[in-house]
Amino acid sequence: MRTGIYPGSFDPVTLGHIDMIKRASAMFDRLIVAVLINADKKPAFSVDERMELLRISLDDIGLNNVEIDSFDGLLADYVAKKNAGAVVRGLRAMSDFEYEFQMALTNKKLNPNMETVFFTSRSEYMYLSSGAVRQVAALGGDITGFVPEIIKDKVIEKFVH
Ligand code: ADP
Repeated sequence: MRTGIYPGSFDPVTLGHIDMIKRASAMFDRLIVAVLINADKKPAFSVDERMELLRISLDDIGLNNVEIDSFDGLLADYVAKKNAGAVVRGLRAMSDFEYEFQMALTNKKLNPNMETVFFTSRSEYMYLSSGAVRQVAALGGDITGFVPEIIKDKVIEKFVH
């Protein structure tokens, strides 16, 4: 069975992430969407909240080979623990490339059995990031088309003081 892991902060999940999950789930028998616990930056949403937003979004589209999990520490160790062959990452623009390339090579060194597979972003989601969603929501802007409709109000609620 081919297991793929899609790791990220998902703070919060966007339609760009959902598109990646749909495409990656078609390539693997099992896809684990893994929420990173020890992010450098302090996330806006807790790990539980980020997992819950993913769960609601994914339940809505009904992909039956996708699981949601969280992990702490080295991705290379987590991949080995889950017996996964590949990690999936998305490339939006040149700006993603350097960081992703460095991470893929570092992970390969740490765990030579692991591959990193890159999906290019769909053109309509090239500009979309969790950071942009947080900024727009914090300033009271409309995040329609940025996050799944089913979680929109929950995301907005977070930024209402
Ligand atoms: P991280 O904090 O690890 O960069 P993110 O949650 O921002 O994690 O993103 C996880 C992965 O999804 C990364 O590989 C990122 O490049 C990719 N990604 C994020 N947004 C998009 C998008 N709009 N289109 C395609 N891939 C994306």
